[in-house]
Amino acid sequence: MSNSPDYSATTQISSVDVEPIPRVYPSDIRPIEVQPTCSHLIVNRVSSGELSESDYSDAEEDLSLPVKQRCQQSEAGKLLHLLEGPGNILDDDDMPRNQTCSPGLEHGIEYLSAVSCKAVEQAEEFVRRVLERGWQVVHHHSLPDWLKDNDFLLRGHRPPTNSFLACFKSIFRIHTETGNIWTHLLGWIAFLGVAIYFMTRPSIEIQWQDKAVFSAFFIGAILCLGFSWVFHTVYCHSERIGKLFNKLDYCGIAFLTMGSFVPWLYYSFYCRQEPKIAYLVLIFILGTCAIVVSLWDKFSEPEFRVLRAGVFIALGLSGVIPALHYVITDGFYHAINSAALGWLVLMAVLYITGAIIYAARIPERLFPGKFDIWFQSHQIFHMFVLAAAFVHYHGISEIANYRLTLGDCLEVEVE
Ligand SMILES: [Zn+2]
Repeated sequence: MSNSPDYSATTQISSVDVEPIPRVYPSDIRPIEVQPTCSHLIVNRVSSGELSESDYSDAEEDLSLPVKQRCQQSEAGKLLHLLEGPGNILDDDDMPRNQTCSPGLEHGIEYLSAVSCKAVEQAEEFVRRVLERGWQVVHHHSLPDWLKDNDFLLRGHRPPTNSFLACFKSIFRIHTETGNIWTHLLGWIAFLGVAIYFMTRPSIEIQWQDKAVFSAFFIGAILCLGFSWVFHTVYCHSERIGKLFNKLDYCGIAFLTMGSFVPWLYYSFYCRQEPKIAYLVLIFILGTCAIVVSLWDKFSEPEFRVLRAGVFIALGLSGVIPALHYVITDGFYHAINSAALGWLVLMAVLYITGAIIYAARIPERLFPGKFDIWFQSHQIFHMFVLAAAFVHYHGISEIANYRLTLGDCLEVEVE
């Protein structure tokens, strides 16, 4: 069968509507929609009857054969068949038997168009996969609005990834969130270790009541640090996921504050049930209010940065009321020595300093673009939170030790 094209013939090369390839920027690696343009070119021409028997001069072609079989006998047909693979688009059911695909020049071009379009589709797919696998850090200007949190950090931002795998892999890459992730990831591991150590002590060393009281603090710290590093990891996934985990991050701060109050109030007001319960209820109500505010959609937006810092500073400073109560009833000296007031004040100073640095965005505000990767305000804030949590752990351990050496409440009152 002779399939050599007739180059002397005047042939109109039909124009082929190939969809323009969407331009892909490194900042946007969302999947490209590949238009189903190519394979359909040839099928549409054949199935619409546009290619009729009179178009062909190849008398040797056996028109009694099914169209699919005839097409597959031609070189271009073989190539197309290979490209299409199983589930071949050239389906006999779709094509009239009296049609042919014996290629003249025009049809050769049709086939080549289909082949080249297929190559374009494959190239698009390849680019899409490469971009999904690897992204480049981008400038703040290239970020979508929902990722534009801190405009003093200019370069090194992750683009939206739409992939949890890509987000978690980014833990091991350098970008604006690397420091934020690792400060609280390492802190989270450290607190998990301390909590496991504490909870597995034999009961002769630490009684179950003390373990229960301390567990409120450990749960608060582990939730806070855990939500924090996960939030900073998946923040760039998508707007919906970023906002969801941002809310969990704020709730974590409220959990840590509430959990921190439990052992402190328990040991400070060990033998005074009414104030102990009243202050526990108070911090529970205030913490719940902070969580409700955190769940408000707009709370995470940049313009509410100061309000956020204010809500959590206020929640922490509510501890001033029971602290003053203790100083008034037991005296300042006792508060320092027995209730570890010094450690608690240090903890409050660390939290508040961290929150002010967070709200003021220092130092990147003073030197925009110089703290994009390391030593930005959020990392410093994270370090302060971590230091404050460890100081608090030390403080409540001292109060517990002191309290437990005194014996039970009746003996103290008799003394
Ligand atoms: Zn954070």
